[in-house]
Amino acid sequence: MSDDCIFCSIVAGDIPGRIVAETDDALAFLDANPMARGHTLVIPKGHHQRVADLSSEESRAVFDLVHDLAPRIEHAVGADAHTIGVNDGPDAGQEVPHAHVHIIPRFEGDGGGPIHVAAGERPDVSDEELDDIAAGISED
Ligand code: 5GP
Ligand code: ZN
Repeated sequence: MSDDCIFCSIVAGDIPGRIVAETDDALAFLDANPMARGHTLVIPKGHHQRVADLSSEESRAVFDLVHDLAPRIEHAVGADAHTIGVNDGPDAGQEVPHAHVHIIPRFEGDGGGPIHVAAGERPDVSDEELDDIAAGISED
């Protein structure tokens, strides 16, 4: 728990949140400034900024809840699809420093884009570089 974290305050019940689901290690509530009807945030109850900071139990709890909730949200708001994503770190656009998964319902013709737009321009990557990157990740 971090004293000056808005999401920790929601977990503690100190500020109101429209909670839609709760498990031992994870909590889900509606985004207060939604990008679409039904926009939901799923968080670990413990305070961690980045996805990699979560324990594997917390990670499982968060992503299990995402898996559970996505069809329920879709049904509740009549969505056609979802964009599910994490702004994992300030340079990726994370504003609240408590890890959270966005579940954003999507509707046919809603004017939004795919997640591909999130990273800006595509780099020109050679096959050799792709091989090196794959090796670097798998050997880590
Ligand atoms: P980020 O940019 O960190 O990935 O997204 C933070 C999200 O948290 C935003 O979509 C924002 O609308 C939402 N948010 C910020 N403050 C609050 C709050 O006090 N309550 C709720 N329910 N959502 C919040
Ligand atoms: Zn927190």
